Amino acid sequence: MKLIFATNNKNKVKEFRSLLGDQFEIITLQEAGIDIDIPEPHNTLEANATEKSSTIHQMTGQNCFAEDTGLEIEALNGAPGVLSARYAGEQKEAADNIAKVLHEMEGATNRGAQFRTVVSLILDGKEYQFEGTSKGHISTEIHGDNGFGYDPIFFPDGAERSFAEMELNEKNQYSHRARAFEKFIGFLQKKINE
Ligand code: IMP
Repeated sequence: MKLIFATNNKNKVKEFRSLLGDQFEIITLQEAGIDIDIPEPHNTLEANATEKSSTIHQMTGQNCFAEDTGLEIEALNGAPGVLSARYAGEQKEAADNIAKVLHEMEGATNRGAQFRTVVSLILDGKEYQFEGTSKGHISTEIHGDNGFGYDPIFFPDGAERSFAEMELNEKNQYSHRARAFEKFIGFLQKKINE
């Protein structure tokens, strides 16, 4: 089965491909010849995921999926949440976003947080959503340089290392994206066998 992944984020493509068997082929926007920056205008991850998958579905008529992820920090009342990519400005720079989180959390004793991913799949014209979360805490300093985004300041529960100190297969054991993906792949496998 072929699916277009409605993202320009190479790290997300790498993570999804690392979880995928040979039954499914993921086509990136670049490989599909589509060069657009899909807007994320809504105030929920769910609505933004739908916006991305339906934009690409309308353009191509193909089966496709998209995902939207946010970091939800308890001490910041759920921020940056849906605004995670642009938390420190439209330049969408990970280093700036991390610096802003660490600044906003100076002195905070509750450092609890979670990543939440919502996948929107459009299959044969119908939409399905799958969610995955990873609970953990925000460190006071950056640790590691693997991964992307907020990985250097997020320690998932049960691990003694940040996501940015892990290899991808270790991150996949804890990650929001891997958990959403498990549900998504289980659903697709059922559909294939129907
Ligand atoms: P979006 O889903 O592409 O809008 O991403 C929202 C923000 O969260 C961006 O700043 C990403 O870099 C960040 N982000 C998404 N997934 C992860 C992850 O697995 N680890 C760390 N940061 C992430």
